[in-house]
Amino acid sequence: MWRRGDFRSNFIAVLIFSWNEVIGFWFANMLAFFLIGLLVHLIFFASIFDIYFTSPLVHGMTPHRTALPPPAQRLVLFVADGLRADTFFELDENGQTRSPFLRNVVEHSGSWGVSHTRVPTESRPGHVALIAGFYEDVSAVAKGWKENPVEFDSVFNESKYTWCWGSPDILPMFAKGASGDHVYTRMYPAEMEDFAAQDASKLDTWVFNEVKNFFEFAKSNETLSAEMWAHEVVYFLHLLGLDTNGHAHRPMSSEYKENIRTVDKGIQEVISVIEDFYRNDKKTAFIYTSDHGMTEWGSHGAGHPSETLTPLVAWGAGVNGPLVGSNQQFQDDFLQEWKLNDRKRFDVNQADVAPLMAALIGVPFPLNSVGILPLEYLNNSDQYKAECMLTNTMQILEQFTVKMIHKKETTLSFLFSPFKPLPLSKGQDMLRTARLYIQQQQYDEAISLCKSLVNLALEGLSYYHTYDRVFLGISVVLGFVGWISYAFVLIVKRHTGLSQPISKLDKLPSNNHLPAVFTGAGMVITLFLLIQSCPWTYYIYCLLPIPVWYAVMKEFRIIQNVINLVLTCPAKSIGYLLLFILGIETMVASFFHRQVLTFGLLSFAGWPLLSKRFQQNKVMSLSWISFSFILAVFPLMPVVGRSPNITLVSAAGLLTVICSFIFLCSFEMAKATSVETTVSRSVYAAQVASIILSVYIVNTTHSSLAVKHGLPLSSQVISWTTLASSLLTPLLSSTFIFQRLLSINLSLMSTYLLLSTGYEAFFPLVLSSLVFVWINLERETIRFHNVSPAEKQLSMINFAQKSDSTHVRHLGLDDIRRSYFFIFFIVTAFFGTGNIASVNSFDPASVYCFLTVFNPFVMGALMMWKILIPFVIVMCAFEGIQVSTRLSSNSLFLIVLVISDIMALHFFFLVKDYGSWLDIGTSSVIRRPFEEPPTSPQQMPSNSTKTSGPGIILLFSTRVRCYIYACSHQGASTIMSAYVRQATELGVNRLVKSSYYQPTVDFGGIINSGSCTDDTRGFITN
Ligand SMILES: [Zn+2]
Ligand SMILES: [Zn+2]
Repeated sequence: MWRRGDFRSNFIAVLIFSWNEVIGFWFANMLAFFLIGLLVHLIFFASIFDIYFTSPLVHGMTPHRTALPPPAQRLVLFVADGLRADTFFELDENGQTRSPFLRNVVEHSGSWGVSHTRVPTESRPGHVALIAGFYEDVSAVAKGWKENPVEFDSVFNESKYTWCWGSPDILPMFAKGASGDHVYTRMYPAEMEDFAAQDASKLDTWVFNEVKNFFEFAKSNETLSAEMWAHEVVYFLHLLGLDTNGHAHRPMSSEYKENIRTVDKGIQEVISVIEDFYRNDKKTAFIYTSDHGMTEWGSHGAGHPSETLTPLVAWGAGVNGPLVGSNQQFQDDFLQEWKLNDRKRFDVNQADVAPLMAALIGVPFPLNSVGILPLEYLNNSDQYKAECMLTNTMQILEQFTVKMIHKKETTLSFLFSPFKPLPLSKGQDMLRTARLYIQQQQYDEAISLCKSLVNLALEGLSYYHTYDRVFLGISVVLGFVGWISYAFVLIVKRHTGLSQPISKLDKLPSNNHLPAVFTGAGMVITLFLLIQSCPWTYYIYCLLPIPVWYAVMKEFRIIQNVINLVLTCPAKSIGYLLLFILGIETMVASFFHRQVLTFGLLSFAGWPLLSKRFQQNKVMSLSWISFSFILAVFPLMPVVGRSPNITLVSAAGLLTVICSFIFLCSFEMAKATSVETTVSRSVYAAQVASIILSVYIVNTTHSSLAVKHGLPLSSQVISWTTLASSLLTPLLSSTFIFQRLLSINLSLMSTYLLLSTGYEAFFPLVLSSLVFVWINLERETIRFHNVSPAEKQLSMINFAQKSDSTHVRHLGLDDIRRSYFFIFFIVTAFFGTGNIASVNSFDPASVYCFLTVFNPFVMGALMMWKILIPFVIVMCAFEGIQVSTRLSSNSLFLIVLVISDIMALHFFFLVKDYGSWLDIGTSSVIRRPFEEPPTSPQQMPSNSTKTSGPGIILLFSTRVRCYIYACSHQGASTIMSAYVRQATELGVNRLVKSSYYQPTVDFGGIINSGSCTDDTRGFITN
């Protein structure tokens, strides 16, 4: 499933909100408005975290463990950070495997499968899923995944002793979360994680050597040796080399592939050392997997299959040997590609690895784990499997119970609506039945009963986790809509002629009751929340709409005036409204599909033609059209994954120098710059020189890195100096509008070049050319409408002059268009080169001029600045337009605020529908995507009821599960709904949606299969 856009939309939603905060600062002279606005936005922003991204963890459960003796005494966990499933399993060009040792395990002694991770595919959430068994909640994002935002239990914590080797980015969180000091870590210094200079596989060899030394040392140390011989011992080897090599050289590189061999060899050696130490006692289990994969262009974080599919190989004590698989059905073609057709593949969700490890060495399942034990991997008695499954079920059911009780306690009893499919008594009944089955040695029945109970409990967890969502969502949206209306009313009141009172309405007495009505409503809400003992944040969300709507209703007359105005020419108003909505929706759509920006820019190109600007100034109009066309190309270019092309960067630098010369010459020619000083000239000279220097640095750095000589110190020094000076030099230049803008753009450009690796270097150049033309055209527009006397040449307008309030005019429709253009350019600045995605899926190549040692914060800050540069260009140009069109900055920014708030509101809903952060926040619904239902009637359990339809559909149902098969291209949905009804009559009362199949069966028996593929199936449990 492709999820990048979703992750991005959430990221953008966050950006938009903070952007609105930035706008707030323009209202410094409207202090009350500013304060209220800031407050509303902060609350709105915070509510997203409270509504969508709360921690799914509950506390207060007791650990559960299986009473039977476990098959293994100790476990060795290898995590090859950033290893893709396909690169690991596939054969190379010569038909040889890259991992001879592990391939041998897969073919002859172990079990294997693909482990499916969730987004974000980052190291920390991946490791938490593997070792603690839950999908990390997003509050971890806010803390940079560095610290433990919540205390959590893990397999390591439950073990007797755990020894870990690896990266300082990962190990501390498990040691810190553990109670007592039984988790020992050994880490290399962070400086070793240098991407560029040497081969990163030495991070892995470091780990292997340390482990070997450790076992050697243990032979002569009695105390250590005694600890190592204990039961419930874990060894964890975190191998970061692959991730580092993948980022630096991409997964298709020989470095990455060679690293796979290094790891394989290292594992073989380490295992022989371990087996030797334990004298081959056959009591060690081994698991090899990875935390996430990696895209072709060396990034991870999003939801592309190359990132979410990771290998899982298990072998040793308690693990099944290879099963012969034939006719295995998976939606992918990996089995053929990997030549593993004849070895049974068992896929798992990443969190399932934690219960597997717990079951192997017999420690309690981690308390917050939502993983379901993959029984296929276990080689033990049926009784042990059933007991383990029962323990797993009890552990998850207890989370559900704790969560339910908590919710019940904090809700008014008559308002509480429990999770109907699983009342408490039913859970206990099912557990009792399962125990009975085990006593009667009916292990299969016990296991399938447990599995259905686990699924119900996980669904119930999700239900209670999102219990308050609708209620809170409505309150917050109500408040925010009120705020937008208030801003709108304010625009009308202060900047148009519509605020004059209409005498009739003045007599309306309703205003007098307003305060009483709103105070009353506030008191009722407070009381309601008080009884339910809600958290304090709920009071804020629910009471916020009251003052905001009060402020709106106080200005009721203005709203009345606006409505009257609209009613005088309804057709025109509706036309404008539709255009406005289309414009906003275009921008919202562009957050998901960058190509929409191209459509928008092409429509912009038609503006001079439509607005008769073309006849007035042909040169400017033609440049506007051509620059719009050139800019429209950028959103069509690939986002990331391109290989660096330094020639393009050099070309962009050269073109910038040429353009600025032409520009400066035109100033000279126009003689408009009589006030130009020599200081300014030397500033320009320095800036142009700095651009040439940047081009040189980019070239030398990348050629030095190509031959693995590392980053030259001189490049590094110059890069940082350029960055620092670019923030200061524009202040030295003249404050005349075009001179100042040119100086700002030149400075920004020199930094941008240093941060570029390809075609994107042209982007700020084209963008700034377009906004220069824009300023000229807007000036023409003002003159054309004769709104303000154009007493000055455009080039003589000075930023430093205080705008004269007598010239400030009323708002017109053109100002809405201006504001819209501005926001659209801002959006283009962000997505023109797809930079948002490259922060998300981090491409370190662009910061190589500054540093090559992995440092997420410095690298992140540099990437952020690269994204902000086009943004700053647009901001400065808009400031120029404001000054030149003699409009009060308040009014223009109020319009911008309203437009971007409407967008923010739209995104608020999108977070709900698409959010893949949502997956993290509400990680409770676990799907078993690759659990295959029986493929033929012969494989159905003997106690199943079979109903056959008109030849194409078969319905099977056992006591606990019902499968519906449909193989029809037409009428499938009608027929299937008939069978769902039949299933309901048979006693199946709950339908479970599975994402692996076409989503044909939905909750409540509604079938939504629009297009039926060859094989449409759904399955049902009761
Ligand atoms: Zn990782
Ligand atoms: Zn990584």
